[in-house]
Amino acid sequence: MKNDEFDIAIVGGGPTGTALALMLAKLAPDPTRIALFHHDDVGRYGYQATLDPRVIAINEGSRIVLNDLGTWPKKFQAIQKVHVSQRGRLGRTVIDPKDFKVEALGHIVRYAELHSLLLGAAKRAGLTVLMGDTAVMADGSQSNQKSDLAQDDFPIVMTQGEQTYRSRLGVQADGMHNQQGAGNTPEPNAKQVALLGCAVASVPRPGWAFERFTQDGPLAILPHPDSVATQSVVWCCKPEQAETIMAMSLAEASSALTQAFGDRLGYLTLTQPLNRFQLYQSLNPQPVKGRIVAIGNAAQTLHPVAGQGLNLGLRDAATLTHCLRDWAANPTRSPEKSLNIYDNLRKNDRQITSKLTSFMSGIFTTGWSPIEHAAGLTLLTLDTLPFLRAPLARHLMQGLRQ
Ligand SMILES: Cc1cc2nc3c(=O)[nH]c(=O)nc-3n(C[C@H](O)[C@H](O)[C@H](O)COP(=O)(O)OP(=O)(O)OC[C@H]3O[C@@H](n4cnc5c(N)ncnc54)[C@H](O)[C@@H]3O)c2cc1C
Repeated sequence: MKNDEFDIAIVGGGPTGTALALMLAKLAPDPTRIALFHHDDVGRYGYQATLDPRVIAINEGSRIVLNDLGTWPKKFQAIQKVHVSQRGRLGRTVIDPKDFKVEALGHIVRYAELHSLLLGAAKRAGLTVLMGDTAVMADGSQSNQKSDLAQDDFPIVMTQGEQTYRSRLGVQADGMHNQQGAGNTPEPNAKQVALLGCAVASVPRPGWAFERFTQDGPLAILPHPDSVATQSVVWCCKPEQAETIMAMSLAEASSALTQAFGDRLGYLTLTQPLNRFQLYQSLNPQPVKGRIVAIGNAAQTLHPVAGQGLNLGLRDAATLTHCLRDWAANPTRSPEKSLNIYDNLRKNDRQITSKLTSFMSGIFTTGWSPIEHAAGLTLLTLDTLPFLRAPLARHLMQGLRQ
């Protein structure tokens, strides 16, 4: 077999693509037959992975997966309670790990640390890691260049710089980089952007995560992986409001933050300037096309409310690994049947999680008071009726179980 031909090619070495590569390496007879193409780019969010200021809420299912891969970050903070409320209206609910017989509702880690651990592990696992230019993946059997490039057994063609490679199966894990193939077209969210930062609370409540719904968008104050004394801030608001806040001094922005959040943590003092993230939303109804499958943000991009995007991407990776188990032992057969099984298995979870986060991000911002009262009443109902709260919390904590 030539060294420019692979059984599986994964384009995009973000957390979803690297996690998939590591899972597949455990079952492939020869991990060098799996290629991971990675280009360290600032991407649509505008931050290189190593400098990305995002903190990520990892649910229990994802923690187990990352632990098994030996890539659980050194710095993390557990979420012991989740408090959900609506600014200026009635209704709040508290989710407690005791209700679910778990020790923590989730953990907060840094995106940059997780990404670098996963990429480091992929390089050590014997996979073929191809760092360099942006890789472009195409189904050569569909292109005009078929006779030159595609061979029946290796119809997926990747180009990276001057090099061309072929593969039996292609995975797009390139986030929101809009490629042909099975990838997704991200839609910028015109109503909300996210401001990310760190704050110190004058009345700290270690281990508590707050999700406060305001008329401008959800505002989350979470534990911070660096220390129990620090809070992570994920402040979603209207783009014009974000512009005003970004132009403020740190002291003025701290005061605006405290006013938006309320007094549950006393006064919130921002410790560094906020970072702005344009938000995107999309759900590709057809993530499998022939021998190419899109996973993670390449298949769906979610609003960050409730912290579901990466958790969903890791479930994509785990299910794809499961579906490819038999095929990987004998990859000379077509993988299309396995990919179609994957597509069917992932449909419900992808759709429900995407719709749920889209609903949660917008329901309190309609400006229509009967709807906002009804949403507040829902929070109150969830609080008083644990049997209603449990399925929602379980879905957000562990994801939909097939
Ligand atoms: C503000 C914010 C907060 C969030 N909070 C949470 C949270 O609390 N919990 C949660 O689960 N999720 C959260 N998310 C979502 C989460 O960050 C994403 O779902 C996750 O990063 C997706 O991982 P990915 O590997 O699919 O894509 P990405 O993280 O985008 O990684 C893709 C990688 O592929 C590389 N790449 C792209 N194109 C190419 C190419 N052509 N060739 C080679 N390499 C390429 C890129 O450089 C990048 O490193 C949040 C998102 C935002 C914006």
